[in-house]
Amino acid sequence: MKRLIAAAVAGTLVAGMAQAGVTEDDLKNDQTITTQVVTNGMGRSLQRYSPLETLNKDNVKNLVPAWAFSLGGEKQRGQESQPLIYDGVMYVTGSYSRVYAIDLKTGDEIWQYDARLPEGILPCCDVINRGGAIYGDNFYFGTLDARIVALDLKTGKVVWNKKIENYKEGYSYTAAPLIVDGKVIVGNSGGEFGVVGAVYAFDAENGDLIWKRPTIEGNMGELNGEPSTMTGTLNATWPGDMWKTGGGATWLGGSYDADTDTLVFGAGNPSPWNSWLRNAGEPTEGNKGDNLYAASRIGIDPHTGEIKWHFQTTPREGWDFDGVNEVVPFVDANGNKRFATADRNGFFYVLNREDGGFVSAKPFVRDITWAEGIDETGRPIFIEAGRPGNPAASVDGKKGEVVFSAPSFLGGKNWMPMSYSQKTGNFYVPSNEWGMDIWDEPISYKKGAAYLGAGFTIKPIYESHIGSLKAIDPNTGEWKWEYQNEAPLWGGVMTTAGGLVFFGTPEGKFIALDDETGEKLWSFQTGSGIVGQPVTWEMDGEQYVSILSGWGGAVPLWGGEVAKKVNYLNQGGMVWTFKLPKQMAMAN
Ligand code: CA
Repeated sequence: MKRLIAAAVAGTLVAGMAQAGVTEDDLKNDQTITTQVVTNGMGRSLQRYSPLETLNKDNVKNLVPAWAFSLGGEKQRGQESQPLIYDGVMYVTGSYSRVYAIDLKTGDEIWQYDARLPEGILPCCDVINRGGAIYGDNFYFGTLDARIVALDLKTGKVVWNKKIENYKEGYSYTAAPLIVDGKVIVGNSGGEFGVVGAVYAFDAENGDLIWKRPTIEGNMGELNGEPSTMTGTLNATWPGDMWKTGGGATWLGGSYDADTDTLVFGAGNPSPWNSWLRNAGEPTEGNKGDNLYAASRIGIDPHTGEIKWHFQTTPREGWDFDGVNEVVPFVDANGNKRFATADRNGFFYVLNREDGGFVSAKPFVRDITWAEGIDETGRPIFIEAGRPGNPAASVDGKKGEVVFSAPSFLGGKNWMPMSYSQKTGNFYVPSNEWGMDIWDEPISYKKGAAYLGAGFTIKPIYESHIGSLKAIDPNTGEWKWEYQNEAPLWGGVMTTAGGLVFFGTPEGKFIALDDETGEKLWSFQTGSGIVGQPVTWEMDGEQYVSILSGWGGAVPLWGGEVAKKVNYLNQGGMVWTFKLPKQMAMAN
């Protein structure tokens, strides 16, 4: 019944918007309009939850491929994109800033767009793309040379193409844009090159920059072509001129909380990684070396780009614990409006939606070495022995003391998005349990060059697994169940009202688990590693599920001893779409 109503509502909306394309209402109601998926995250709150229940625990074992589509070419690298579904067409982005429009019924290609990338782009962590956005009659996506491009939905022709920042300085972009109030809102990538993180709002119609909000204190914002306000207070938590190359890249994009009309973007590691160079004082001296707002979540007014609030997960960050992880609005067991975010630093945080205030934090991985826990104000209780040593204290001043740290710099969780099930009230968090040897070194900033001042080697901790998908009760932080995987998990998770948890593994399996028990109900070998993000939708009364398969991303490039363990995995580039056999689907 619920499904029929949703379908009827969707039908009305689609009929009413034949000329207008995707509207603000479509974006707002993306989660409940089950015939389309027009936002990253299956709704701007990024819950990745579908109310569809045609596919369920009993029948998912019968799921079979409906069609598959190859991204082709020689450019088969990590495929981290989330497909979008609109008006009979699937839109997916591929490695090397490519876009494909695919017939939803047949899997035939309608058009392909290849961004012409210049020599000398500086992506840190594979030539990936995480998806696009649809608004009006356009498809929007970011490119590896730090541009934002609007394409005509029907033809794939360029409507406008604007520079976010200069790729020669180390900027790039890979996250899916977020559309709010007619603005295309994006971040930037490049935190390993000493860029300055920022959030940008472009006019969806013509690509004009409306506002820009840097994430690092001391940098000036922009509104309608004029300087607006400074971010934070100059030199409050950064020494000297370090804030000018202070990192805080917003490379994973953001979410939107409609209830408080707030954009929430995360800011990555402060630059350089060597935290001793960024400390205005020891941690006891009034937190002067915190380096705001790096490694933080930032609440932003979508209309002006002003900062409403911030919450820093890792002050004076020194392990590459980027604070970019997705912030997901939900309602807790007591009816309170909350945000949840699983940080790269290994802690699962619950925040107050009104002001980003701290509510709770619990570990979502084992063996955390850098902090004993999070205190009642939300600040980590640091373990000083877990901080890489100061190179200045070493004999030759060239290499600080090596420490073993868990999580590794690739995080208890990296980019791969979790899901919140409205059915169970649990979060389903794709995590990794691994560590690293890390040490600090001297470094000075050079435009367009890596700006780390650190060295590292990632190591497994357990023979049994690195990947660990956990069902977490956000009210208590309790792990309800865990599904362990040998290779690190690097793809997104989706839940459904049918009681299913979908995700993929680098070993190539696309898997459905029982949302209550974690029991494996179905799996399919896709032929290459999965680092993509599943979606589901309804067409002609049948429920479909799609996932991109194509191994890559940061692990094979930066994974140290772990990379050696996974180097047998084959690359690829395929969209797989599944459904139940017709007679079974009709029997529902
Ligand atoms: Ca980083």
